Amino acid sequence: MCGIFGVYNVEEASKLAYLGLYALQHRGQESAGIASSDGSKVYSYVKMGLVADNFTPDVFDKIPGRAAIGHCRYSTTGTSSIKNAQPLTVSYSRGQLAMAHNGNLVNADMVRAELEANGAIFSSTTDTEVIVHLLAHSKKNGFREMLIDALKRVKGAFSLVVLTENELVGVVDPWNFRPLNLGKKDGGYVLASETCAFDIIDAEYIRPLEPGEMVIISEKGVESFKPFKPAKQKKCIFEFIYFSRPDSYIFGQSVQKARKALGAELAKENIVKADYVIPVPDSANSSATGYARESNIPYEMGIIRNHYIGRTFIEPSQSIRDFGAKIKYNPVKEILNGKDLVVIDDSIVRGTTSRKLVKMLRRVGAKDINWRISSPPITHPCFYGVDTATRAELIAASHTVEEIKKYLKVESLSYLSIDGLVKAVGGKKEDYCLACFCGEYPVEFNAEPEKMGFEG
Ligand code: AMP
Ligand code: SF4
Repeated sequence: MCGIFGVYNVEEASKLAYLGLYALQHRGQESAGIASSDGSKVYSYVKMGLVADNFTPDVFDKIPGRAAIGHCRYSTTGTSSIKNAQPLTVSYSRGQLAMAHNGNLVNADMVRAELEANGAIFSSTTDTEVIVHLLAHSKKNGFREMLIDALKRVKGAFSLVVLTENELVGVVDPWNFRPLNLGKKDGGYVLASETCAFDIIDAEYIRPLEPGEMVIISEKGVESFKPFKPAKQKKCIFEFIYFSRPDSYIFGQSVQKARKALGAELAKENIVKADYVIPVPDSANSSATGYARESNIPYEMGIIRNHYIGRTFIEPSQSIRDFGAKIKYNPVKEILNGKDLVVIDDSIVRGTTSRKLVKMLRRVGAKDINWRISSPPITHPCFYGVDTATRAELIAASHTVEEIKKYLKVESLSYLSIDGLVKAVGGKKEDYCLACFCGEYPVEFNAEPEKMGFEG
């Protein structure tokens, strides 16, 4: 994942980027950074940690100007360290630029090896730096042409915002794996992974970027190009299931509407008798309302989530059962004792969270526990910018639904079907990437899965 944001021609651009990143914090909590431009120079401030902790009032003097981009990072594989934090700011033959990337390139290792063989020295392990090196090495004339030239050499998922001294660029790969949206703010323009970042700064949502589209925002306004060979669009359907915030529009659609439809579809496919529908908060709240409405079973907040988990946690010296899960969740005995439940979660990855939650629910006296998942079983890892664990770790890669049911120790377990998923989200099946549910990868990768050490 990762959240990206850009703003052009506004007062206090870096403060707006800060607010935008704050709204996108759910997309990455490891590092947060902002690069800005005052028309003649690019400035940058990047730090490990959360947006609200990193940007104290004194920081904004270091990132002046009327244009800015921002990034909050979630590393897929490889190290989480400051050298990989973004935006990546560099000086090259034409001046300065800063780049922020959401997605994963599938040929970054090969291109990087080639560049290194020709003398390039990398300072990070991000695939984003591969794009920057390709751009700096390009023989084309001018920044735009050099950027297009660089992007034509890479394969995979990229939604990018790029800032130079006097331009802001937004660009999406031809498959459109990750969302990027265009908005308006006073006399300026805004780009963001999700539209919840527009709402927080009172910007007006214009539209999503199209597959393979590049927008150049400058003194001339917004210019749109389609510089790449067209491909079949493959929007990440997991954005609707889990990653994006329900109050956002992505790919031109409401996430909340899609998520409620996921729950309703799940109920249509597999209804069960119970006293309550309980969401695993917060990611299943919306789909559980859809399930409850469709099934006519009352919705209850039977599990409460603690939102204030810090980055480091002092573990108790004595062992406390299911400690990890207890930091995050606590069941409400008053509601659950003696009741039959339908518990809704958005997905099962390794199965550890669900198993621990079931134990917690039993301890407060829940009777029948019917586990319902508003997505199909995750059988394959993602190579396009999401950490869905390795194949060996994915419980549904090697276990049947019946076996997972036994592992979780629930009365029943069922997942949403792939067809039900597409029906709920809307649109055509071929327009979505469904690889983690079926193994049909829309863009081939060259490396062994375990060697995919690049990040975005
Ligand atoms: P697990 O214990 O590994 O089965 O984790 C399942 C939980 O992780 C679900 O409740 C999801 O909300 C959440 N989840 C799903 N996909 C991801 C992801 N890519 N990164 C982090 N959490 C995820
Ligand atoms: Fe999204 Fe899954 Fe495709 Fe990755 S493999 S882009 S998570 S749908």
